Amino acid sequence: MSGFNFDVITLFPKAFELINNLGVITRALDENLIDLKLHDLREYGEGAYRKVDDKPYGGGAGMVLKPEPIYKAYESIRKSPKSRTLLMTPQGKVLKQKDLARWSSLDQIIIICGQYEGFDERIRYLADEEISIGDYVLSGGEIPAISIINGLTRLLPGTLGDPESLVDESHNSPLLEYPQYTRPFIFNEMRVPDVLVSGNHEEIKLWRKQKSIERTLDKRSDLILNEKHKKSSQSKIRIKDNSQFMKFRKANEYDLYPDW
Ligand code: SAH
Repeated sequence: MSGFNFDVITLFPKAFELINNLGVITRALDENLIDLKLHDLREYGEGAYRKVDDKPYGGGAGMVLKPEPIYKAYESIRKSPKSRTLLMTPQGKVLKQKDLARWSSLDQIIIICGQYEGFDERIRYLADEEISIGDYVLSGGEIPAISIINGLTRLLPGTLGDPESLVDESHNSPLLEYPQYTRPFIFNEMRVPDVLVSGNHEEIKLWRKQKSIERTLDKRSDLILNEKHKKSSQSKIRIKDNSQFMKFRKANEYDLYPDW
């Protein structure tokens, strides 16, 4: 085995063809930085029709994935020493960048994708973690699984051309990334901020930090509030009156965030 191993249990292996058209991720596959094994649930189905689902006990709409095929598929997977099993479910913990970073030091992720109305409750026992990609419901776990494979792969050494690009990006810290510009300098009468062509690296750094803070307050103030909430008990008082807090922060951002 070489590189990072992804093993996915799915009823729709074809969905993963997308990975062959995703730039950096495709390259990582070609260069054996990652290995993707798809375990077609249908092959582990029961009887002549390879049955993988059934009606829910107690009645109700839709079909539920049966436990036996998923257990069989799971048992067929060769486990690496540093392996973790993730179950895709909208009931799980919402995926965060820090989860991807945490898993990137392993050597295998096994992903179980649900379908239809979901899966038999006993399938939960296979999982180390239950993961949701957001508070909405998709038809299957394939897109969530591709999101995890994609996000984790770009963190692996040798995947991105420039590992520096991981440092400032959104969700790597509580701040969103600053605005980015490329040529031309003027486009549809919109100018690139002068500071970016000033050649003054200190000023550029300062401007970017300031824009990161402004942008986070405007778009996702919850990221900063959550972070402060974790760090200091005082923040509880501030969070109570959000509007005042915002005004206060906009005027004092550098004082509040000396470390950023
Ligand atoms: N009836 C279930 C939802 C089933 S959706 C419930 O209420 O919890 C079918 C499958 O799609 C799920 O088993 C899961 O594997 C996948 N899925 C749907 N939305 C998801 C999400 N937000 N995150 C992760 N997986 C999801």
